[in-house]
Amino acid sequence: MSNKDFYETLGVARSASDDEIKKAYRKLAMKYHPDRNPDDKDAEEKFKEVQKAYDILSDKEKRSTYDQFGHAGVDPNMGGGGFGGFGGAQGFDFGDIFSQMFGGGAGGRQQSYQGADLQYAVEITLEEAAKGIKKRITIPTYEECDVCHGSGAKPGTSATTCSTCHGSGTIHVRQAIFQMQQTCPTCHGTGRQIKDPCMKCRGEGRVKTSKTVEVNIPAGIDDGQRIRLSGEGEPGMHGAPNGDLYVVVHVKEHKTFERNGLDLHCEMPISFAIAALGGEVEVPTLDGKVKLSIPKETQTGRRMRVKGKGIKSLRSSAVGDLYCHVVVETPVNLTDRQKELLEEFEKISTGMERSQTPRQKSFFDKVRDIFD
Ligand SMILES: [Zn+2]
Ligand SMILES: [Zn+2]
Repeated sequence: MSNKDFYETLGVARSASDDEIKKAYRKLAMKYHPDRNPDDKDAEEKFKEVQKAYDILSDKEKRSTYDQFGHAGVDPNMGGGGFGGFGGAQGFDFGDIFSQMFGGGAGGRQQSYQGADLQYAVEITLEEAAKGIKKRITIPTYEECDVCHGSGAKPGTSATTCSTCHGSGTIHVRQAIFQMQQTCPTCHGTGRQIKDPCMKCRGEGRVKTSKTVEVNIPAGIDDGQRIRLSGEGEPGMHGAPNGDLYVVVHVKEHKTFERNGLDLHCEMPISFAIAALGGEVEVPTLDGKVKLSIPKETQTGRRMRVKGKGIKSLRSSAVGDLYCHVVVETPVNLTDRQKELLEEFEKISTGMERSQTPRQKSFFDKVRDIFD
């Protein structure tokens, strides 16, 4: 961790009041909080710096020591050794800051132990979303340190009662006429101080690891929906509840179907002969092909409904439909014989009734209206 000036870190003057320091700290802590900056190492580092600076500057005694001796006065790593307990601050608990700000009161101590909620994104296909699927995902988590068995203290030593809060985990701060209760900045609410931290977990009592969880993604899930796995988030410490795991589902774009609510839509090209004479075509659905009969004189843009071939509802027994949007296709790469037949078709159609071409009729009617 850098040894940037604590006043500079919080962006306040050396003469700043307690209130100004608190305000600056809240603003920066919100800005750099890991919940708002997932996977941002810079923000995490800044967050720690801000937290550390506030730990010192919010404490009258530590602040005056810092003012006199600088970092050497308050940082045990600098050899000054002013405050033995500060070593415990290496294991920052990100959940802690919100409980300090909003939790308050005696509940703050419990909250600081609860495991953080985790969020994880999975990508599935439209077919998987329609039918439902089990996915195994591997997520980062913590497990109890096997060297100190969760105590955080070096084997052979043990944690002592925090000398700042005398083990209560909270301190009373007088602010103007109010007396406020706050999480103890020395022990971060644990009520304990670790003089000799465990080498493996650096006093945290837990180490990073990963675990595999099976997620049951239900049929009908849509893009962006979340599944909550209660208790599968980060483990709580010292018996406190685990956080929850939120799995956000992303449904990949499908090359044929577009989803809208429970309904599916697709484009259906048909030949102009079928369009004119009618006939049967095969259309794809999410579970195999089905036959669809095209009525004669079908135009581009007509919507054909295939009932019950959409998506099953997540919450009810409702099932959506599949809508096929007809596109009459102009044939390409014609053979000589095909050209011959079409030329003949065009020849015998010349001068035919406009009623045979309803679109052309309405088009030319409009043109006439414009120029007459
Ligand atoms: Zn350990
Ligand atoms: Zn304490």
